[in-house]
Amino acid sequence: MSIMDFSGTHFLVCGAGISGRAASLALAGHGGSVTLNDMKAIDTAEQPWPDIKAAGVQLVFGNQETALLDGMDVVVPSPVISPEIPIMKEAARRGLPIWSEVEVACRVTDADMIGITGTNGKTTTTMLTYHILRQAGVDAGLAGNVGNSLALQVAEDPHAVYVIELSSFQLDNMYEFKADIAILLNITPDHLDRYNYEMQNYVDAKFRIIRNQTAEDAFIFWNDDPIIAREIAKRHPQATLYPFAETHEAGVKGYTEDKKIIIETSNGTFTMEEDLLALSGTHNLYNSLASGIASKLVDIHDENLRASLSDFTGVEHRLEKVARVRGVDFINDSKATNVNSCWYALQSMTTPLVLILGGTDKGNDYSEIEELVKKKVHALVFLGVDNAKLHGFFDGKVPVIEDARSMEEAVSKAYKLAEKGDTVLLSPCCASFDLFKSYEDRGDQFKACVRNL
Ligand code: ADP
Repeated sequence: MSIMDFSGTHFLVCGAGISGRAASLALAGHGGSVTLNDMKAIDTAEQPWPDIKAAGVQLVFGNQETALLDGMDVVVPSPVISPEIPIMKEAARRGLPIWSEVEVACRVTDADMIGITGTNGKTTTTMLTYHILRQAGVDAGLAGNVGNSLALQVAEDPHAVYVIELSSFQLDNMYEFKADIAILLNITPDHLDRYNYEMQNYVDAKFRIIRNQTAEDAFIFWNDDPIIAREIAKRHPQATLYPFAETHEAGVKGYTEDKKIIIETSNGTFTMEEDLLALSGTHNLYNSLASGIASKLVDIHDENLRASLSDFTGVEHRLEKVARVRGVDFINDSKATNVNSCWYALQSMTTPLVLILGGTDKGNDYSEIEELVKKKVHALVFLGVDNAKLHGFFDGKVPVIEDARSMEEAVSKAYKLAEKGDTVLLSPCCASFDLFKSYEDRGDQFKACVRNL
């Protein structure tokens, strides 16, 4: 990206946390006229506020009147700010451009960007790619949904390349961002509640990952995803295409053959025994192929790539093995907040299962997992405030179904229903907000309850 000058542009930055402060300084440092606003009253006598004021940033704390938008050209919400709060709704109503913090940061750095999106697998692929780059000695930063604020890193701890996890919401607020390497892992229905239940809106958001790319840039994607295939045929991406798939066909650059993964780029052909990959399951094979292609494109040596693909320790709450209690394995997949990620979890399981499901439904269609549930699951425990939709779908399809209103109850019921050699899998298909603070809280409580058995 090239560095921009914001002279004459008026910005309202909402949320005075770390990333809001960093975005304000970045914009002011490049000529922008910046107001930083927070609902909370903040005492500005102490650092860092005097420095922020000295940089020319106006501070408005303790209220958030919509009149603050008057005369503004661009609004920059902190990642934690909901689009549903009055000032953001009013900004949208006025048609003001809304920039994500990543969008601000990318305009003030010329570092290389590896942008990673998809319905599932973003965090795993982002962490794996970052791990590979760092282990190989590349000066890489981690940002987006994981890691530190990109604006802060760009300002205070700059790196040569950033590996950035991008959700559809972040992509919605990105315009000039250009990924030198874009990865699109898959697209299945998710967050439809925030896209007016229009799947195409969500698909369009995901495809913003290839916005502004040229033939010099790379677009890595899953070749067998029907939605991605349809959109590529429609959109004719400018970037050089690097599809990956389990099996080889013409044009596919990352695939498996004879129990080996094979990656072909202009930097040579990389091969590695599939058995040596640290992450297991078909979905993780895709994630490893995507990270592997990106790594070869930035010219990571084969021996470094091989070492990192085999020693990566995985990410918490994603098919995380917790413990074996009297012959029953417990697996925490709390991050499976949609049906498709649960499908992959079920598909990768090799023992009979007790499955813990439920939470805040985001417009789920459970028919996607029906066959796998019937085949592998002999008992279901529904963990949610309202389990009616789950009962409506699964009653009569699985021998035993029980309800639970707390994690403790769910784990204890699941344990009683499990037999030696079974696995108890928490892969809820749903968001966690009805009973938990977050999916991390849900996963942590699951692990704590398992350890207390
Ligand atoms: P995200 O950041 O996109 O939510 P994560 O890496 O956190 O993705 O994984 C979320 C869930 O999706 C986990 O349950 C994980 O096992 C599953 N998963 C990971 N990679 C994939 C993939 N490529 N396809 C489908 N499901 C996946």
